[in-house]
Amino acid sequence: MIQKQLNAAPADARSGKSRAHRRAAAQDRLTLTQGRSRHLVCNLLQEGDVTGDDMQTGEETETERRGPAIAKIIPINMKTHYAEGDVNAYLLLGSPVTLVDTGIHTEASVQQLRGGLAAVGLTFQDVEQIVVTHMHLDHCGGVMAIQEEAEVPVFVHERAQVLLDGGRQEHERTEAFLREFIVRCGAGGVVDPRRPYREAAWKHVRYLADGDTLLAGGERYHVLYVPGHSQTDMCLWNPETGDAFVGDYLLQHISANAFIVPPHPWERERPKPLLQLRESLDRARDLPWKTIFPGHGDPYLGHRQVINQRFLEQHERCEHIRRLLQAGPRTVYQLSHAMFPWLKGGAVFLGLSEVQGHLDLLLERSQAEAAEDDGVVLYSAV
Ligand SMILES: [Zn+2]
Repeated sequence: MIQKQLNAAPADARSGKSRAHRRAAAQDRLTLTQGRSRHLVCNLLQEGDVTGDDMQTGEETETERRGPAIAKIIPINMKTHYAEGDVNAYLLLGSPVTLVDTGIHTEASVQQLRGGLAAVGLTFQDVEQIVVTHMHLDHCGGVMAIQEEAEVPVFVHERAQVLLDGGRQEHERTEAFLREFIVRCGAGGVVDPRRPYREAAWKHVRYLADGDTLLAGGERYHVLYVPGHSQTDMCLWNPETGDAFVGDYLLQHISANAFIVPPHPWERERPKPLLQLRESLDRARDLPWKTIFPGHGDPYLGHRQVINQRFLEQHERCEHIRRLLQAGPRTVYQLSHAMFPWLKGGAVFLGLSEVQGHLDLLLERSQAEAAEDDGVVLYSAV
């Protein structure tokens, strides 16, 4: 269906009508999409994703009443070659027209993004601002392709500045750190941390920080900094509607890996990403969020339930590691291999990252201890 949309340029674009005209026409089309969007919300309510205090009497009526606002959010789905599968961008109609995330850098993905905009009669030139939830390629990869065609500002968390300004030097610093980390895990020679360097020559970058607000699609959103999955994760959420754009921070069915990364250039210790993620999860627990728009998968309701599930999984994983350590000291790689024997090649790093994250938690709770032997770290149960 998307392919069909690509082959047929929207009539307004062909006739060269003004940007303002196309945006106004897209707003008019809202009346056509309202019904469908309400249906989406009803489906979510019926699928049993909501229980207990998330499902308060009157919320459905409120959602129904605010139907038009929900219809202003258009999900655009793009294929990726990543394990998470398809990735979402969201087009927020209303002033300023905003694109949340951009898919990967490939031509096929950029075309799918273009098709999503064309479905409501818009082109990249109609996008007035881009918001990137975090600096992973499946979310920020399309920025340069859009900016080749349109002078559009891009909003990102301020922690992204080191990646955007650091260029090749920052890339090499990261690789050197990861090489050493892999050796310390006891996986030297097993995983190769080298990744191709990809220049991110973005223009008109604007940095956001926790607590900032941003006008997008006619609504005011609050910025919540939620590091853990990456150091640049942020959510946008709307206190009026309860809509939250969460990137990969709070996926419904998958727990996004808390990636081990080097220390920030001005800090000595590397971040402890799982501890960060737990703090970030705690921050959203009591926020009045309703519809969650994730980076992967369908919009859903019931973020508290998902947060509780993540904490439960982390607890179970910690218990698994403790049981393995009771048999004697182990390296991160040995633990990872025992827990995720199916990981091969570059994916082994995901296992190392996951285990190290949980070991950070066990160390903090004094349930494990670490000792270094010839550059490799051995963990023991306490
Ligand atoms: Zn992702």
